[in-house]
Amino acid sequence: MLPELRQLVQSVKQAEDDACALAILVEEIQRIIGTDTCSVFVLNYRTDHFILMATQGLAPEAVGQLQVPSEKGLLGYIYQKQERLRLSHAKKHPAFLAVPDLGEDRCKAYLGVPLIHRRRVVGIIVLQQFGRRQFSKTDEAYMLTLSTQLADYVSGIALAHLLTSKEHQDNTPYYWQGASISLGLCIGTPFIKIPLKELSEIPDRPCEDVSLELRSFRKALIATQKELKQLTKQMSSMLGEQEKGLFEAYEQMIMDQSLVHEIENHIRDGLWAPGALRRVISGLRQQFLAVDDPYIQERTCDLDDLARRLLTHLLSAKKTLQSFPAKGILVANEISAAMLSEVPRTQLVGVISLKGSSTSHAAILARALGVPAVFGLKSATLEEFPSTEIILDGYSGHVIASPDEHIMAHYQNLLKLEKAQAKRLAKSRREPATTLDGHNTSLLLNIGMALDWEMRKDVGAEGVGLYRTEVAFMLQDRFPSEDEQIRIYTQVLNRMKKKTVVIRVLDIGGDKSLPYFPIQDKNPYLGWRGIRVMLDHPDIFLVQLRAMLKANLKSGNLKIALPMIAHVFELDQCLNLYSQAYQEVLEESQMRAVEYPRPEMGIVVEVPSAVYQIRALAKRVDFVSIGTNDLTQYLLAIDRNNEKVSEGFDSLHPAVLQAVRATIDGAKAEGKPVHICGEMAADPFGAALLVAMEVDALSMNSNSLPRVRQMIRAISLMEAKQLLAIALLKENASEVRLYMQQQFERLKLGALIRAGG
Ligand code: PEP
Ligand code: MG
Repeated sequence: MLPELRQLVQSVKQAEDDACALAILVEEIQRIIGTDTCSVFVLNYRTDHFILMATQGLAPEAVGQLQVPSEKGLLGYIYQKQERLRLSHAKKHPAFLAVPDLGEDRCKAYLGVPLIHRRRVVGIIVLQQFGRRQFSKTDEAYMLTLSTQLADYVSGIALAHLLTSKEHQDNTPYYWQGASISLGLCIGTPFIKIPLKELSEIPDRPCEDVSLELRSFRKALIATQKELKQLTKQMSSMLGEQEKGLFEAYEQMIMDQSLVHEIENHIRDGLWAPGALRRVISGLRQQFLAVDDPYIQERTCDLDDLARRLLTHLLSAKKTLQSFPAKGILVANEISAAMLSEVPRTQLVGVISLKGSSTSHAAILARALGVPAVFGLKSATLEEFPSTEIILDGYSGHVIASPDEHIMAHYQNLLKLEKAQAKRLAKSRREPATTLDGHNTSLLLNIGMALDWEMRKDVGAEGVGLYRTEVAFMLQDRFPSEDEQIRIYTQVLNRMKKKTVVIRVLDIGGDKSLPYFPIQDKNPYLGWRGIRVMLDHPDIFLVQLRAMLKANLKSGNLKIALPMIAHVFELDQCLNLYSQAYQEVLEESQMRAVEYPRPEMGIVVEVPSAVYQIRALAKRVDFVSIGTNDLTQYLLAIDRNNEKVSEGFDSLHPAVLQAVRATIDGAKAEGKPVHICGEMAADPFGAALLVAMEVDALSMNSNSLPRVRQMIRAISLMEAKQLLAIALLKENASEVRLYMQQQFERLKLGALIRAGG
């Protein structure tokens, strides 16, 4: 029955919608067990009634209509006991309650199985037989296994049903489903972030306070006028008559009272200022374009430029007038790492991005900050987001607006449980990550995304496995000098107090470009990125290497990693430059090699070619790090930032597992230690499989580390190896995930991947 069970769970989870999923569920159970009826009841925990959501064998018209109080009948009995109920004659049970017109009267044998999620019954599956046939122990065991697999899922359906049920009088949208990016729960006030962008993309939003909105508009108007005056003054000597005329034209446009009044009228009608600006400017634009005169038509560019200036001031005026809420949830169309770094950390409780995927650097940063995050809320728009408290469930990917008191109470309870769990996890920070049978895996930290914040927490890591240097470079308006870099690296090396720190050479390109060194590639992830940029710029590369080496003179705990190595010749060139930098540092500091041994250098394996050439590469270096984020991206040809294809992005894909294993085996054959620095190490399922591959260390954000430690301490290497052996036989990532989920439940590790567990 096991393959059928897996198949069933998979078909349910992959169904088009909830109704289809439950219809498949009852149909398949009826077929597999050979029962006369099978029905699913889901609990509406606001009304405390079970609702019949799907049935095979009972009255189909009762689906969605029939509601049974949660304390009544056999359902009530199961609900209270939280246990299965197996009867040969249901009517004889004292709790039996006949439901008219359901067609149950002929039923005798009964098997009711609760679906328990986060310690609560969220639904019940009921099987009934017309004859006296007793359901067997095997049937019971099958249903028990099935219920543990599906409870999580049914709970999502229960919540969705609850949120979309008729009882909600308010018909504004209040429930969205996105992808879980950073685990955790929070209740907070949305702070909508509109990046400085094209005016045409500005949404309509109601303004909450008309006079505040009018004030911010006037402030922006004055600032734009000043800016234009300043520009004209600064450039008057350099400008020709034509350009001077242009600035004057801008000034005239902005002084145009009819334009100003029109915008203000929209605001008075309740529209927020950026929306009012967009409406008026686009109307004017249409008028310009309609005139059959190329000179007038070209003036639309001036209009756009002026509007952009006004918008910039408007949004920054709003920023100063509008402060980030005490418990703020940052909401944006597409969260960027820069936006996240702007908000006050102590006030940020959650992050929502309507677009985006799990290995984007904004997602990595959200995890680094330890705030729950949900990305990819496909059906939501910024206009819909309320300004009142919302709930963000980073485990299930749910975002709930306008929650009523029942939902609020439910989540407040979960938050309490979560805090208690965090306390329990924090207590174990001094315990080693050793499996039940004594196998040890070092746990390291990934830092650099929010350095000061990340280094404040002590989660008992044995060192830093990845310090991303890009963010330190991004925060400047030019390349940091050698001395500036020495200061930054010294701070990190000293803070780790003799524990090893792997500093990664600058990995720009892809989605990380420096404001002062823009890289414009059509295909940025396949273009000028990482080590390719550094080898083309030995000036930048050598300064960075020298700064790292000098910072390490006293502390002696540095290792250096090279990102994006795809060719052996690239590594050879890097090693030559490293020798040069090392010699220069020795000379400058008047030291001999014995006094300052060369710090270890390793590569980050993240390009598939490096997997196949691992032995040639590994023998040249001291250690190997595997960057599973990029390795997954390049193996599966899925842009890690593109939410259109993000569903297929999964580091548990069998091909990625094979590649990681081959890399570990190849490096070990060369006697080189291996650690994982991609997000796979922070995923409890991924971490279990990596432990089984006997990787030396797992490096991850500080927020995930306690969970991974707990998982390792609760499993044996032998068990982990059995999981790996079966996972490697799977043909799809979803099958690997499903299998790992089942095994985590069996090993009582399910709590690690659930809220309040
Ligand atoms: C990786 O690719 O797995 C990695 C750790 O590097 P980054 O996420 O910074 O590209
Ligand atoms: Mg990478």
